Amino acid sequence: MSFSNPWFIAAVVGVLGVFHLEIIATFLNLAQFRHALPQRLKEIFPDETVQKAGEYASKSASLDLQRSTVSTGALLLFWWGGGFDWLQRWSAGWGWGAIATGVGVIGLLMLAQNFLSLPFDAWDTFKIEAEYGFNRTTPRTFIADRLKGLVLTTVLGGPLLALVLWFFQTQVHAVLYTWLTVAGFSIIMAWLSPRLLMPLFLKFQPLADGPLREALLALAARLKFPVVDVSVVDGSRRSSKANAFLSGFGKNKRIALFDTLIEKHTQPELEAILAHEIGHHKCRHVPQQIVLGLLESGLMFYLLHLALQSPAFFQAFGITGQPLGLGLVLFSIIYQPASLLLGMLSSALSRRHEFQADAFAREACGGQPLMDGLKKLSVDHLTHPNPHALTVWLHYSHPPIGQRLAALEA
Ligand SMILES: [Zn+2]
Repeated sequence: MSFSNPWFIAAVVGVLGVFHLEIIATFLNLAQFRHALPQRLKEIFPDETVQKAGEYASKSASLDLQRSTVSTGALLLFWWGGGFDWLQRWSAGWGWGAIATGVGVIGLLMLAQNFLSLPFDAWDTFKIEAEYGFNRTTPRTFIADRLKGLVLTTVLGGPLLALVLWFFQTQVHAVLYTWLTVAGFSIIMAWLSPRLLMPLFLKFQPLADGPLREALLALAARLKFPVVDVSVVDGSRRSSKANAFLSGFGKNKRIALFDTLIEKHTQPELEAILAHEIGHHKCRHVPQQIVLGLLESGLMFYLLHLALQSPAFFQAFGITGQPLGLGLVLFSIIYQPASLLLGMLSSALSRRHEFQADAFAREACGGQPLMDGLKKLSVDHLTHPNPHALTVWLHYSHPPIGQRLAALEA
């Protein structure tokens, strides 16, 4: 351990700082349940719902705390016990060349992380979510989902990673090439995902002819939104929590509603929810998020470039030499605070967009059906009725329910 190395100090302060900040936010957020709710929320959330939401939140939070304690502890033990140096020497002995070795090392560490988080995910799904009646996943589906995820990561991520490592190994303008490649990749994935990837996990079926289909298509036509298809997704195979989404570019928009959403909501509520989703497209929220994401990843690759050039960066993790693949992993450790900060920025933008989409839906369908739908969703999902501002800042992509209702009423 070298306390004179600024990279070392930045990494330790970053890892421990993020860990403790999350703990503080969690405790403040849970403490909110002990304060009386504002009048508006009291009318929506009956006392027993608030109590149940509080229990659910505290069980989820305690699992998250255990998870982050184990993963932070494992990281520090591995790091301070000379694990990275050992990994570097061992992988050098494979005789694979820098790029293949880098892909191998990163794959190995990702696999280890996946195994470490497996018991926590299983406990969350089969214990906590099940206890509150949300879980509908079978162990078989749970395992199949993870295996599919692993195969997809290998098939799609492996070659991309190899290309990025090759840029950093051979090109002077590696930052620019990597940035352009990742930008292209994310645009292709946005196009490919609803067509090829999501059907691997969810079953899409056309919504049956009838008043609901007619009403949704009529609404889309009235809002001049070119919809080619309305599907139902079998979200109920995994969870009773409901969702809606829209996909597609240009003139090929597809609406997909979770079967659980259709089960629980009235037709006017579903129309309002669709109007909200259309609002996101009309206000061009997706391109704005993509631009912000590209700015953030440009900054990240530039900082990565700086780190990889510095022998002191590697020494902070006990490594002599500058192995490329391992460098990427170490950078992801030191980058944690920046990642949290930038995540807060894009969440803030997303919360702003939610208000705009709500306003669009109010314009299209009136405020009442959307307010009814949102109330129902919050009560059904045992959402925290009154989260603490720090947690909202850190993690909320949607504004708290009280703020959304207040804006709709205004
Ligand atoms: Zn939205």
